[in-house]
Amino acid sequence: MPLRLLPSALVDRIAAGEVVERPAAALKEIVENAIDAGARRIEIVIDGGGRRLLRVTDDGAGMDADELALAVERHATSKLDDEDLLAIATLGFRGEALASIGAVARLSIASRPAGNGEAYEIRVEGGVKTPVRPAALGPGTRVEVRDLFFATPARLKFLKSERAETMAAVDAVRRLALARPDIGFTLVTDDKVPATWPARGPDAAGRRARIADVLGHEVARNALDIEGLREGARLTGLAGLPTYSKANSLSQYLFVNGRPVRDKVLIGAIRAAYSDLLPSDRHPVTVLFLDLDPREVDVNVHPAKTELRFRDPGLIRALIVRTLTDALTAGVPRTASTGAD
Ligand code: ADP
Ligand code: MG
Repeated sequence: MPLRLLPSALVDRIAAGEVVERPAAALKEIVENAIDAGARRIEIVIDGGGRRLLRVTDDGAGMDADELALAVERHATSKLDDEDLLAIATLGFRGEALASIGAVARLSIASRPAGNGEAYEIRVEGGVKTPVRPAALGPGTRVEVRDLFFATPARLKFLKSERAETMAAVDAVRRLALARPDIGFTLVTDDKVPATWPARGPDAAGRRARIADVLGHEVARNALDIEGLREGARLTGLAGLPTYSKANSLSQYLFVNGRPVRDKVLIGAIRAAYSDLLPSDRHPVTVLFLDLDPREVDVNVHPAKTELRFRDPGLIRALIVRTLTDALTAGVPRTASTGAD
């Protein structure tokens, strides 16, 4: 075959595989956008495992007609203006999510800028755009994704059961809701009774209330407040009692500078802190918020932005191990009994 540049629609589809590997990943990106837009309320609908429908409605800053047209282009972002990849304050910054979703699904975005702007709508289906046209909508943005991966049938084969995909999508929303107790969330899955998590205060009490809303009062009751500081890095949140452990590590909720993450350094440090308190097949419930100078951590490691690289992993590990160990030894007797599931 001759050497050639790939057509942009194909490039988009290839890139889309990295950003949106499953419905949960698409939903995470869209809800992140709502948060970045300064939404106070976010309403989420997940239908048919998120494959049939994902819909996110927010009351954030919105977009005008020109911005709407740009939003679905690849590498179009309003969030990276000083070209400093090490000082990222928003959840998004790569300008890839909407273009990727539009490449593999039927995407429609309706938006109206806060203030007295007018509402417009744009559609992208399998990478094919229809021009922006007027729509009816209050201030904010409504993003609708239907028939995810209809344009890449091979990807469909990798999806799990509808139930598993729904659970993963709900999990993604939970993590973002834990990160932002100050935003009100409503979550509707498959016409079931909606979960509503009202906006809470931005302080520790608000955070605890949100944890109880999202994860249940059991979790909040069986956990200790923690707080630790080391060279400008701050760790806060809840550490579950060893008597309330789980059979898997899914209940470890980790946030770095407000971003939900999965990170080996953090997970390893938690394991070390509980190593004397729990058998190796049991996992604690933890909701940990690590805040540090954005220059100390690189979030641009993977398109999904859930992996990170710390400049000084040893420092982070020491902070976590020390803070958790102190809280756990002060707060509970040293037993290794297990509870919960
Ligand atoms: P990124 O979030 O990395 O910038 P996206 O593809 O997710 O890239 O979004 C592209 C752009 O579209 C954003 O930078 C933002 O300007 C705009 N946008 C997307 N979603 C919203 C929303 N819910 N409200 C307002 N603007 C949005
Ligand atoms: Mg984004």
